[in-house]
Amino acid sequence: IVEVKNLTKNFYNKEGEIEVLKDISFSLNEGEILTLLGPSGSGKSTILNVLANLLQPTSGDVRVDKNIGYMFQKDQLLEWRNIIDNITIGLEIQNKKNEETINRIEKLLKTYGLWDFRNMYPKELSGGMRQRVALIRTLSVNPDILLLDEPFSALDYQTRILVSDDVYRIIRNENKSAILVTHDISEAISMSDKVAILSHRPATVKNMYDINLKMAGEKTPLKARKVPE
Ligand code: ATP
Ligand code: MG
Repeated sequence: IVEVKNLTKNFYNKEGEIEVLKDISFSLNEGEILTLLGPSGSGKSTILNVLANLLQPTSGDVRVDKNIGYMFQKDQLLEWRNIIDNITIGLEIQNKKNEETINRIEKLLKTYGLWDFRNMYPKELSGGMRQRVALIRTLSVNPDILLLDEPFSALDYQTRILVSDDVYRIIRNENKSAILVTHDISEAISMSDKVAILSHRPATVKNMYDINLKMAGEKTPLKARKVPE
């Protein structure tokens, strides 16, 4: 469903050319969750930007077979639109605003504790609330492939468990696929089928772990958690 082959991406700055991604290859099969782990600045967001076609690769091939929903690292909410209107903007663009999609949004707002805030403006919300609004916006258009750039990073522990469980359930139950960026290793292990670890610049995929296989030094196989009821 996603195939990346020998992806290289260079940027230019005052000092000249910087090599950020070098010879990155990985694939995502339908129904899989892949997590990208790697140090800050290694190029995780750059990979997602290339997959979303916001950046052109310097070289290499990128194939994305189905429609994507991208949750950016920065929430990119529109300050002049209230919460509900921020969420429905994607539906409006794609002409998908109808009773079914509105019901879906209402349910997500309630699950994520945002129902009472739906008529407020982004500046009236906390960072964690804004992050959940951006997540609902991404889910609202019902994409086949989710690109989630540190989607839970601003959430407190309790909310993080609740929201990540719900997102996991949506991905699994609705047979979606996802590429998740996180710095949280336990989240990577519990949520994903495979984990790609990026090295620091230029980033290459140093190691690719299948979660069901043993990791080095691990006595028992790591298992992806069960879908919550
Ligand atoms: P973090 O974990 O902090 O979010 P990241 O792995 O997502 O980091 P990227 O944002 O992809 O890292 O950035 C990778 C490198 O590419 C950084 O050194 C960054 O400065 C550089 N970079 C990213 N976008 C651009 C750009 N548009 N122009 C120049 N350099 C860029
Ligand atoms: Mg990033």
